Parts: sequence; structure tokens; C-alpha cells
Amino acid sequence: MSAIPVQIGRRVPVAPEMRADGPLVDTHGRVHRDLRISLTDRCSLRCTYCMPEQGNEWLARESILSVDEIVQVARVAAAAGITTFRLTGGEPLLRRDIVEVVRRLSAIESIDGPVQVAMTTNGIRLDDALDDLVAAGLHRLNISIDTVRPERFAALTRRDRFEDVRRGIEAAAASDLRPLKLNAVAMRGVNDDELCDLVDFAIAHGAEMRFIEQMPLDAGHEWDRGTMVTRDEILAALAQRWQLSEMPGRGGAPAERWLLDGEHTVGVIASVTAPFCGDCDRLRLTADGQLRNCLFSADEFDLLPVLRGDRLSDGDSDAAIDAVLRGCVWAKLPGHAINDPSFLQPARGMNAIGG
Ligand code: SAM
Ligand code: SF4
Repeated sequence: MSAIPVQIGRRVPVAPEMRADGPLVDTHGRVHRDLRISLTDRCSLRCTYCMPEQGNEWLARESILSVDEIVQVARVAAAAGITTFRLTGGEPLLRRDIVEVVRRLSAIESIDGPVQVAMTTNGIRLDDALDDLVAAGLHRLNISIDTVRPERFAALTRRDRFEDVRRGIEAAAASDLRPLKLNAVAMRGVNDDELCDLVDFAIAHGAEMRFIEQMPLDAGHEWDRGTMVTRDEILAALAQRWQLSEMPGRGGAPAERWLLDGEHTVGVIASVTAPFCGDCDRLRLTADGQLRNCLFSADEFDLLPVLRGDRLSDGDSDAAIDAVLRGCVWAKLPGHAINDPSFLQPARGMNAIGG
């Protein structure tokens, strides 16, 4: 396979047909560099915008990828130009083998050198696991926290675990992992009165606060565009307190970044009101071996038969994984169509896709 150096967010001329080598390019010229790997659909919280309180239909245990299977897909993806793996879920720290996953993924070489391994977590158990994760090669952390008020946290996540999350964030703050990012979904009437407090909390922990527009990925299918807190409203709330200046150089990153009084930074991920699909360089692997080319796609590309087909040699199964990766990227639509009246929410909830 040829090693073609590419840059994040870069587009390349579109070939008339899908290529069998080179970087993972779609029919719109977008080069894919980032693979989000969901390790489980299970979670220690039940955030209202993500999971149902009860009655979740869990993925079948026997379909969950083993470490060997995850590493095989990741290795083939890296050879095809993926440079970052982001571990997510569900809650990735619920996997007992999480340190081994990080250790083996971080040993993979990409076409540009060692891959970057990042994780998005709710922070519970992080204080216990962090030293081992860093020693295993973890590069970056995003920790989700939607409120700094413990009672509100318990209502929003349906679990009384604020102190566990706070301890995890303190452990991350004391580590060398930088940049450290805290994620909050902005919700009207729930936490939109504490956006500045969240920024203060992030600053106090040496982290960057990132606000996310709520997306239609909740288990209850109750998302309402009319009540969603928009990027403009988030910025207006912050502007009451700080002078905001936009930072250039976004590349393929989902967050627009702003300087507050020329000193601190904040990110806003406006997937609904300012979609960034045109620069998307991301692919997703679910915990049960399905490749997805978009959070919102209706189609999945099944890797389980390739990974578990007993008639394939290692070399043949690598080639088959590469072909599935390329087919999945080639089928990617130009955008997510949330704003189209015909939009249908995906069958999987966010916890089973991997955020
Ligand atoms: N459990 C981990 C966590 O919460 O960080 C990782 C998985 S979670 C699905 C990843 C991210 O997706 C979190 O930052 C969460 O806030 C975000 N998320 C979940 N549901 C969402 C929704 N409906 N709209 C926007 N963001 C969402
Ligand atoms: Fe769990 Fe993360 Fe979903 Fe909250 S957002 S329920 S922590 S997977």
C-alpha cells in the first residue's frame, strides 16, 4: 500500500472510481484520518440526551469486539491513512481491558509516525485508571461534564456520581495530558444558566470547555430543534462576561474555538446550526464491529464476518477489512441532513454508536 502524506481536513481530487490503495478518500475528496472506536454500549450514567432510564437494548455480548479484533481493524486503518484513534462508548472505562486496548493501539504506526490515542469519558474511575492509561500511551482526554451542581448532575445523568466525575477531572488536571478538554451539551432550562460557571470550572482545572449543540441522538427521540440551545445563544451567553475573538486554523476539527479576553479558550461544536460535514475526516467503529461513515448514517458496514470468518488467512482478512473501510468511506454522503425535513434519527442511540 503506498504511503501518501496528507493533512487533516485536506481534500484531494476525486478519482472516478474507488481506489484500492492510498488514503481513505470519499467521493467528495475528503481524506479520512480519524477513527472513533466505541468499546462498549454500556455506561455508568444515563444522561437524558443519550440513554433511556431503563429498558435499553444492549448489544449482544458475543458480538462485542475483542482486543485482538479491535487492533486488527485499527492496524489496517492506520495503513490506509488513519492517524488518530479516539476511544469512546458508552463508557470506555467500563472495559476491563481498557489499559491493554490503549497499550496495543498506541504501538501502531501510522503513515506519519506513531498514531495518537485519545479518549472521551465521563470521568468515573479515571482517577484509578489514569496512571496506567498514560503509561500505556494515552495522548489526550475529553471528559464530559454538563453541570457543576451535584443535584443537577444527579437529575441529568440519573446517577448520583458528581463526586466521582470531579475526582476524575482532578486526576486529569494533575496529569501531563494536554490539551485537556471538558465537554458539555448545552440544554435549555437544564444547564444554560451555568455556561460561564462551566468555563470557570474548566479554567480552574487547566482545561478547555467545549459546548456541544444537542443532536437528535437521544433514546427517547424527544430532541426538538426549536428548544435546542444554539451556537449563537452559547456565544451570546459567554459574551456577557468575556470579550470573544474567533481563533483561526480549525482544519477538520469539529469545534470552532474562541479566545476569552485574549487569555482562555473555549470551543463550540455546532453540529446542527453550523454543520462541519464538508471537512469531516471521521469514521466510526461500533463495539459490535459495524463501520459507520457518519454519526447519523442509516447504513453500517459489517466487519464481523470478515474478522470472524474462519476461512480467511490473516493476510486475506486484512485485505478484506481494507476493502470494507474503503467501501464505507466511498459511500459517505456529503452531509448529515439533520436540517432536512426527511431526516430520520438513526436506529442506534448515541451510546451504541460512539460519540
Ligand atoms: N461516556 C463517554 C462520555 O460521556 O464522554 C463517551 C461516550 S458519549 C456518547 C460521547 C460524547 O457524546 C459526550 O461528550 C456526550 O456529551 C455526547 N453526546 C451524547 N449524546 C449527545 C447528543 N444527543 N447530542 C450531543 N452530544 C451528545
Ligand atoms: Fe453514558 Fe456518555 Fe451517554 Fe452520558 S453521554 S449516558 S456518560 S455514554
